[in-house]
Amino acid sequence: MNTIATVQQMQRWSDAARARGQRIGFVPTMGYLHAGHVSLLGEARKRADVTVASIFVNPLQFGANEDLARYPRDIEGDTRSLSSAGTDVLFLPDVKEMYPEGFQTAVTVDRVTRGLCGAARPTHFQGVTTVVAKLFNMVKPHVALFGQKDFQQLVAIRRMANDLNFDVEIVGAPIVREADGLAMSSRNAYLSGAERRAAVCLSKALQAATAQVECGETDALRILVAARRVITDEPLARLDYAALVDPDTLEDIATVQAPALLALAVHIGKTRLIDNCILNRSKLQASSDKP
Ligand code: AMP
Repeated sequence: MNTIATVQQMQRWSDAARARGQRIGFVPTMGYLHAGHVSLLGEARKRADVTVASIFVNPLQFGANEDLARYPRDIEGDTRSLSSAGTDVLFLPDVKEMYPEGFQTAVTVDRVTRGLCGAARPTHFQGVTTVVAKLFNMVKPHVALFGQKDFQQLVAIRRMANDLNFDVEIVGAPIVREADGLAMSSRNAYLSGAERRAAVCLSKALQAATAQVECGETDALRILVAARRVITDEPLARLDYAALVDPDTLEDIATVQAPALLALAVHIGKTRLIDNCILNRSKLQASSDKP
């Protein structure tokens, strides 16, 4: 595996791959890789001839009181995981390379970033779409893979790629979970033993809501009550939001008839975790992850 640290070298590598007629698959990450990231690389390999993974802990997407300084890092472990996943290039720019002196441009996606995580993290998605737009111009991928774990991020990136005519196919991949149902996340490393056990309440809340829908419940408020109860019953958990929204527009829905996104954000101690699932998936073409 090649490690590339500069924008210019990355662009030249991608130009050469394109000139050879190779299709480039791209997986952007913030590192501290787990099986969720590795599954995205596997999907990228299926869809492309060569794969690029980036690791960049993007300061723009962290709020002033968030965990930028203590975000977990393990470049050696990540390099091993990427090599054994058959990745061709690790793109590893530093902050100065990404945001040189004088940088002052941003990409903003409007409506789909206002609610859900955007309410508590008002600058987060602008940071994400700005860095992803830059990474697309650096890596020049044909296809880019994103996890459905960060569903709102996936919707915002699809919107950006569409609205700004990026010539990149955006693919969403299912959530990879631990054996007890907890969605894998680099932030799970922050959890103490007791918090780790408590964190299973997110996937349990999704399961409680799914069970309601399977019993024929369609009223969004009643489904949300079932999900929220699981969180409020867990002493170490504090609910940020539980919402039932349209999976394309992310607008609230009152009844679950078509496929609907149930999204959660929950504080477990000082760690904020998110999770989601699609309810009424049977009415959706592609099927995959279940909480
Ligand atoms: P991050 O390093 O957290 O920025 O995540 C990089 C990519 O991995 C994003 O597209 C995430 O949605 C995706 N991802 C993170 N956790 C998971 C998971 N448990 N399952 C699938 N994809 C994930």
